[in-house]
Amino acid sequence: MLTIKTNYSLKPHNSFGLDVKAKYFVEYENADDLAEFLSNRSSMVNAQCSMFHIGSGSDLLFTKDFDGCILHSAVKGIEKIDECDGHVTLSVGAAENWDDFVAWTIAHGYYGLENLSLIPSEVGAAAVQNIGAYGAEAKDFIVSVHCVDMHTGRQVRHTKDECGFSYRRSNYKEQWRGQYAITHVVFSLPTEFHPNISYKGLSDLPTQGLTAQDVRNKVIELRRSKLPEPSQLGNAGSFFLNPIISADHYNDLRRQYPDIPHYPVTDNAQCSMLNVQCSRLKVPAAWLIEKAGWKGKSLGRAGVYHNQPLVLVNLGGATPDEIVALAAAIMEDVQHKFGITLKPEVIYLD
Ligand SMILES: Cc1cc2nc3c(=O)[nH]c(=O)nc-3n(C[C@H](O)[C@H](O)[C@H](O)COP(=O)(O)OP(=O)(O)OC[C@H]3O[C@@H](n4cnc5c(N)ncnc54)[C@H](O)[C@@H]3O)c2cc1C
Repeated sequence: MLTIKTNYSLKPHNSFGLDVKAKYFVEYENADDLAEFLSNRSSMVNAQCSMFHIGSGSDLLFTKDFDGCILHSAVKGIEKIDECDGHVTLSVGAAENWDDFVAWTIAHGYYGLENLSLIPSEVGAAAVQNIGAYGAEAKDFIVSVHCVDMHTGRQVRHTKDECGFSYRRSNYKEQWRGQYAITHVVFSLPTEFHPNISYKGLSDLPTQGLTAQDVRNKVIELRRSKLPEPSQLGNAGSFFLNPIISADHYNDLRRQYPDIPHYPVTDNAQCSMLNVQCSRLKVPAAWLIEKAGWKGKSLGRAGVYHNQPLVLVNLGGATPDEIVALAAAIMEDVQHKFGITLKPEVIYLD
C-alpha cells in the first residue's frame, strides 16, 4: 500500500522534535508500491519537487519546512532465511526499529548485535550509516542489502563488499546518496554467544555466566548515563565530526593547550570525506567545544548538552533557526580559537 499525505508535520519523524512540515509525505509498504510511485509520480505529487528518503530522522536537521517529497519505508518483518554452521540468516524490513530488532535477536538466541543496543535507527538507515558503538559495527553482521533503484524502479541487491562500508559510512551515504531506497537488510548472526566486551565500559563485566542480555543491559545503562533520550530532550546524537588537522597545527595548539587530546587517523574513507591527508591527527570535537566554553550553554531554546558537548539539544520548542544558529556560533568560535573548521555530522535538509 502507498500512503501520500500533504503538508504533513515531520515532528514525530525527526529526533530533534522540530515542528517542520513536508509538502508531501509518501510511505510505501513494499518494493512494488515504491516502483509504482516512482513511475506514476507526476500524477500523484508535483513531479518537479525534490525527494528525500528518511528513516526515523535521528541523524537529520530540517532547517525549514521541506518543500518536496519525503519518502519513508513502511517495509516491516523479520524473516528467517536459513540456519546452518552456527549462523542464522535473517532478512529484515528497512522500517523495523533497530533496537526492537536487537531485542528480538537476543530473545531468539541470535547474537552479536547486543553491543549496538539502543542506537536510535531504523534497520535500513543502520546500513546507510554502518552504525557502530561499543566495539561493534552493523557491517560485521550484514550480508547484503536489497533496494529499489530510484531512477528505474528496479529491485537491486548489493553484496556487503559492494556497499563500501567503513567507519560510520557506506556507499549509500556517499556516492550513491539518493540513488537507492533500501527495502531489506540481510544479516548473518551467530547462534552461539561470544561476548565482545573488550571495549571501555564493558570490560569490567564478569565473564562467568555472562549472557547477551547482560551485555545489552550494560550498554543501555551506559548509553542512558551519557546521552539524552531524544523523546525527552530532542537531539541527533553527535552533531559534529571529529576534525582532522596537520601535525604542525596540532603542535602549535599544544604549546597553548598542553592537554589537547589527539588520536591517530586510521580510516582512509574519513580522510577523503574531510579532504585531508591521512598522516594527520584527529582531535575530539567535544574537547574543542568544551574548551571554547560551550558545554551546558544555550542560545534561545537550543543548547549544548551538559554531559556531552558534542550533542546539541532542543530545550523545548526550538525552531530550526535556533539549532542552526547555535551550531554556527560554535563553529565560528572553534574556528576563531583553534583555527579548526568543525563539520556537522548530521545531515542538513532545506
Ligand atoms: C541519541 C542518539 C545517539 C546516537 N548514537 C549513535 C551511535 O552510538 N552510533 C551511531 O552509529 N549512530 C548514532 N546515532 C546516529 C543515528 O542513530 C544513526 O545515524 C542512525 O542510523 C539514523 O537512523 P534513522 O533511521 O534515524 O535515519 P535518518 O536519520 O532518518 O536517515 C539517515 C540517513 O539514512 C538514509 N535512509 C534512511 N532510511 C533509508 C532507506 N530505507 N533507504 C535509503 N536511505 C535511507 C537517509 O536518507 C539519511 O541519509 C545516534 C543518534 C542519536 C539521536
